[in-house]
Amino acid sequence: MRIGVLGLQGAVREHVRSLSRLGVDTRVVKRVDQLDEIAALILPGGESTAISLIGGEPFLERLRELAKSGFPFFGTCAGMILLAREIEGRSEPYVGAIDITVARNASGRQVHSFEALLNVDGIGHDIPAVFIRAPYITRLGEGVSALAKYDGHVVMARQGNVLVSSFHPELTDDLRIHEYFLNIVEKRNQEDMK
Ligand code: GLN
Repeated sequence: MRIGVLGLQGAVREHVRSLSRLGVDTRVVKRVDQLDEIAALILPGGESTAISLIGGEPFLERLRELAKSGFPFFGTCAGMILLAREIEGRSEPYVGAIDITVARNASGRQVHSFEALLNVDGIGHDIPAVFIRAPYITRLGEGVSALAKYDGHVVMARQGNVLVSSFHPELTDDLRIHEYFLNIVEKRNQEDMK
């Protein structure tokens, strides 16, 4: 089971490091054809506009196709913006794999980055979370579960095999969130083999 990390821009190495510490075969994905060689994809934080421009329409189109087939995605921060069905102030989504609306930079400017400890449904307590100009989830569609809140805002959610977080779990040493995503991927792989 190989997991891809979208390697166009942003906190790519940090996700690779977390996955490697869990003993997972990891591949940095920079080209569309590499998407065929992985069982799941992590979209890192960084700058959503930059990531989408570097990848371009063919990349986004392939991600949209994969989303329709139940492919597991985990988007952190900018990655969550790329996966959201709706982005405040923007007419079109990028991939639209999860039925949420997000507000970009909702938690303030770069100087307002902060760390918090979160309780995450189904995962555990006191999970360290780094927020950097983080987007907040402002609407949850039907079938989307809120997994964590901070200051009254939903900051982590899941719909089927798609997981998103406003914050960066890969910038901490806590591997519980990555482990949770791996479970989603493993379950899906087992179902495919049935
Ligand atoms: N504000 C960034 C964006 O809009 C996301 C910030 C981050 O990924 N740390 O893409």
